[in-house]
Amino acid sequence: MQAANMAELLGDLDFDPTALKEKYLSERDKRIRDDGNQQYVEVTAEFSRYIDDPYVDPGFTRDPLFDEVEVAIIGGGFGGLLMAARMKEAGFDDIRMIEKAGDFGGTWYWNRYPGAMCDVESYCYLPLLEELNYMPKNKYSFAPEILEHSKNIARHYNLYDNACLQTSITNMTWEPSSQKWIIETDRGDKMRARYVAMANGPLSRPKLPGIKGINDYKGHTFHTSRWDYNYTGGNSYGNLTNLKDKRVGIIGTGATGVQCIPHLGEWAKELYVFQRTPSSIDVRNNGETDPNWAATLQPGWQKERMDNFNTLVSGGDQEVDLVADGWTDIMRNLTGIAAKIASRKLGRKLTKGERAELMELSDYKKMNFIRQRAEEVVNDPSVAEKLKPWYRQFCKRPCFHDEYLHTYNRENVTLVDTQGKGVDEITSNGLIANGKEYEIDCLIFATGFEVGTSYTRRAGYDIIGRGGQSLSDHWSEGLRTFQGLTSHGFPNCFFLGFTQTAITVNVPHALNEQAKHLAHIIGKAKSQNTHTIEATGMAEEEYVAEIRKTASTGSRFYAECTPGYYNSEGQRGNTAGFFSDMHGAGPVRFFKILEQWRAQGDLEGLELS
Ligand code: NDP
Repeated sequence: MQAANMAELLGDLDFDPTALKEKYLSERDKRIRDDGNQQYVEVTAEFSRYIDDPYVDPGFTRDPLFDEVEVAIIGGGFGGLLMAARMKEAGFDDIRMIEKAGDFGGTWYWNRYPGAMCDVESYCYLPLLEELNYMPKNKYSFAPEILEHSKNIARHYNLYDNACLQTSITNMTWEPSSQKWIIETDRGDKMRARYVAMANGPLSRPKLPGIKGINDYKGHTFHTSRWDYNYTGGNSYGNLTNLKDKRVGIIGTGATGVQCIPHLGEWAKELYVFQRTPSSIDVRNNGETDPNWAATLQPGWQKERMDNFNTLVSGGDQEVDLVADGWTDIMRNLTGIAAKIASRKLGRKLTKGERAELMELSDYKKMNFIRQRAEEVVNDPSVAEKLKPWYRQFCKRPCFHDEYLHTYNRENVTLVDTQGKGVDEITSNGLIANGKEYEIDCLIFATGFEVGTSYTRRAGYDIIGRGGQSLSDHWSEGLRTFQGLTSHGFPNCFFLGFTQTAITVNVPHALNEQAKHLAHIIGKAKSQNTHTIEATGMAEEEYVAEIRKTASTGSRFYAECTPGYYNSEGQRGNTAGFFSDMHGAGPVRFFKILEQWRAQGDLEGLELS
């Protein structure tokens, strides 16, 4: 069999793939550090002020609760809201939401930084649009609209009535005598719940860089997930008028930095962007929702659109691409769809080697386009050069923005590129990078969220299950679940999120599937008059083995990537990267597996008593 001619499949290859690969590896090597994930400091003790809630009035008090509910849902973001919605629809009314923030919204409650928006299409991303009869204003929603929608979901399903907001769990313990969970909180509560669903969120605990001198800085400082509008003025749409006479420094150019930097550039007297690794910035193309299009939508349209998007971004084929945006374009070119198109052209299946080569070359092409875009937009060629990402598209979260790169054409904006090394030191007046001190009035950390630390550390509490076993112990060697949703020894306790399930670009889609599944399980258990549902030890063991066998850690791919939270900061093995431990079936098949399991009807793998 003759090897496929890649130029015939991909068109003109006007670059040298070997040279590009070497460049990628050398850029990765510059950034690899021995301390990996340990380079970040935990936001406790002297750093805990970075996670105070700036959006509530101080002094909130309430009487502690010593009551009982049927269902407690921890977390008021999309995971918790979807869980509550599906439970209400399944006939459960006695539900209590427990949330540390002052309101519902989860990530959209905390992340109100200027320019915050969702880069997944709103018609797919915002949950329960048909249930609430709501149509988003734009193709990509701005944060305030998403926060408002979260509150509307809570109103629609009457979740405020019994909610405990501004309440953090301190302990959760299984009480064998009552067959219930005892939940203790920082408000002095000691309540009981028959079922508990944990929807803590995957990127919920901010992290700070362990840069020498971080505590010495005397100017104003905050993390992007706790934006201080009292200091900057303005709101999520911009208008940061108080910065007109301020020198601002920002560390971090990930998806968050990319969205807020254009506003800082517009308003600060001087802005210094301290860059360790540039993000890949693709075209955004936002637009207002066309009411004529919206009027044509038929009942069931949102599920159809979400399924269509999910299939395409998971490498599957669809006759039409309903969303037709940057995500589906990337996936069409860099996943199984591209291989299928190439096979059709060739008249035979690609070999494994050909497929890998095709993907790598397509990736180079895509990233060449991204790098060229930086050249076209940024006036100063030396600055454009520093903004070029040298890694494969999925080494880091792809970003889409139409003003970010343009910001570097402003006179008042300086890109301080640190050649992969990061900021050297923080002083009382500012930052030292590349050996030079930059004096600033305000330092903003756009340094992201903890990934790869233990689940219970990120949650902020441990769970003591049957026989006094803690979840941190049970998961000390890695996650152990059945279907990603429950664990042996922790009856009636369920996890939503990224725990050994399948991930999709549109995260609320996965959360909705999990919520539907759990509502089915709990509903069935209730209809059979049972008190507890628990994964059997055997089912958990088999499921963990299945995960280990199928998990798409992509370790070879990630080993060649520049460090980041996707690949355990470049540490070998990538056992704690964001996508480690995901079910290898991928989201489309995984959701089908869950659906078939439900249809089977016998709750195989769970023990009811
Ligand atoms: P990230 O973890 O993606 O980015 C952190 C940034 O901080 C990186 O640029 C990192 O550089 C930089 N950094 C860390 N330490 C140092 C240091 N010592 N010196 C200099 N720079 C440093 O966090 P984000 O908050 O940007 O994004 C987190 C995730 O949240 C996204 O990946 C995305 O999943 C989600 N998100 C989604 C949005 C949406 O539109 N849906 C919008 C915003 C966020 P380096 O790359 O070198 O590590």
